[in-house]
Amino acid sequence: ARKGKTPEEVVKKYLQKVKSPPEEDCTICMEPLGGPSGYKGPGVGPVSRAESVGRLAQCGHQYHFQCLVAMYNNGNKDGSLQCPTCKAIYGVKTGNQPAGKMEYHVIPHSLPGHPDCKTVRIIYNIPPGIQGPEHPNPGKPFTARGFPRHCYLPDSEKGRKVLRLLLVAWDRRLIFSVGTSSTTGESDTVIWNEVHHKTEFGSNLTGHGFPDPGHLDNVLEELRAQGITEDDGLM
Ligand code: NAD
Ligand code: ZN
Ligand code: ZN
Repeated sequence: ARKGKTPEEVVKKYLQKVKSPPEEDCTICMEPLGGPSGYKGPGVGPVSRAESVGRLAQCGHQYHFQCLVAMYNNGNKDGSLQCPTCKAIYGVKTGNQPAGKMEYHVIPHSLPGHPDCKTVRIIYNIPPGIQGPEHPNPGKPFTARGFPRHCYLPDSEKGRKVLRLLLVAWDRRLIFSVGTSSTTGESDTVIWNEVHHKTEFGSNLTGHGFPDPGHLDNVLEELRAQGITEDDGLM
């Protein structure tokens, strides 16, 4: 159903009308909300007075309607919208992670800092391929380095909760993305998205290992920023 919706219709669904815009600037285009959108890109049609400014229904932040449509068009157009100010998510956010496989199993060893439980190992495997329309350079190849990537979680109650939510994140294509690696500088390659993973098992030489007492709470917070909360893990 969402495929049939135009960008304007998607954006409108999450907005309330604003009769008199406040004397503030739109933080997308930095122009006053009382005047026209500063967005000059392609596809800007005429906007009626009534829909020139909208208020996002949950968080209340206000923007030019046209600026929100432009922002939506710059994303992967999945029917969801994220407030650029407070990151509130409208609809279900999905990403552009390429096709691949996520597997996990228990290994009978403890992680540093988690002496009382075994360990869950997650194995991500993504092969190289050709970028789709949702990627930075559609039609161009992308590389995939260091796969399979092995990641570790304590097999505790909280670790299992994180695992359930990571499975949801995987299905929504939010674990990896295609872009420029900040580690290697390589562009058009598969990179971690904004959810941290521990890739070192028995030590912490890379900074991506254990012990790290805050790790599980950090990951839960990062998942929340992607719109994935504890309710999602109950399915
Ligand atoms: P990136 O360097 O753009 O970083 C994105 C995020 O991932 C950052 O938050 C960063 O802190 C985190 N990150 C970086 N290295 C990590 C690691 N080893 N374990 C867990 N998190 C890490 O993202 P990227 O290019 O996907 O990550 C770099 C990592 O990918 C390398 O350390 C390696 O594990 C793998 N890699 C391997 C090769 C190879 O040829 N074997 C090449 C490139 C990347
Ligand atoms: Zn604007
Ligand atoms: Zn907001």
